[in-house]
Order: sequence, then C-alpha cells, then structure tokens
Amino acid sequence: MIKKISITTRSRAEFIDITSKVQDFVKESKIRSGACQIFVPHTTAGLTINENADPSVKHDILNRLERLVPFDGDYSHTEDNAAAHIKSAIVGTDKTIFIEDGEMKLGTWQGIFFCEFDGPRQRNIFIHIAGK
Ligand code: ZN
Repeated sequence: MIKKISITTRSRAEFIDITSKVQDFVKESKIRSGACQIFVPHTTAGLTINENADPSVKHDILNRLERLVPFDGDYSHTEDNAAAHIKSAIVGTDKTIFIEDGEMKLGTWQGIFFCEFDGPRQRNIFIHIAGK
C-alpha cells in the first residue's frame, strides 16, 4: 500500500510539517499494527522527525544547518545547489514509524517534517504502510 503525496514548497529552505497527512493515510489504511515508511525521492530534500510544538525549533535547525553548510561556498558541483545535496545527506531521505492500535507511535512532541533545501519546487513523498 503506497501513497504519493505532492507538495509545493515556497522557499529555498524550509521544513513543512506533514504529520497530519501521514496520519490520514495511516487511518485510511485501517492497519492496526505495523509500520509506516516515508521516503523522499529527491537529492536536495529530506525528512526529519523533531519537535513540532515550538516552531522556533525548526528555525534553529534550519539556521544551524545553513551555518554548517552555507548555500554559497567552495563546492565542486556546478549546479549551484551543492549545499542542498549535503544537507539532504545529513538529514536523510527516509523514516520508519511503528503503528500500534492504529496510531503512529510518535512521541508527544514529535512531528514529521519534509525538509526543503533547494526550493521552491514541486516535491513528492512516498508513504508505505505494512501490517495487519
Ligand atoms: Zn545538484
């Protein structure tokens, strides 16, 4: 059971909370016990799970990533988006979340974020749910 979600990002770098979109698909699947895998098929974007209660957390992560890997720098890659590739490599492009009693086992403060590092663009996210 695979679902594709398409999103349009609005900035060069931003985190978009996709928790409710994933939750909707988990409910729709009627899987009570299993796992949900999320995969981003892009080389300049990624996924992270982190606090979604205080929005300053995602800004701190984005700002610190930008300081670690500035968009403009001494890179070999000639498409002018080397920093975005590196940030994607740092955060990764997939996550697995367990499902129990029909609910994702996320922590109280955890949300799932799509990470744009080379926007704005049209992006896809694949969600696979397995279980019974
Ligand atoms: Zn590139």
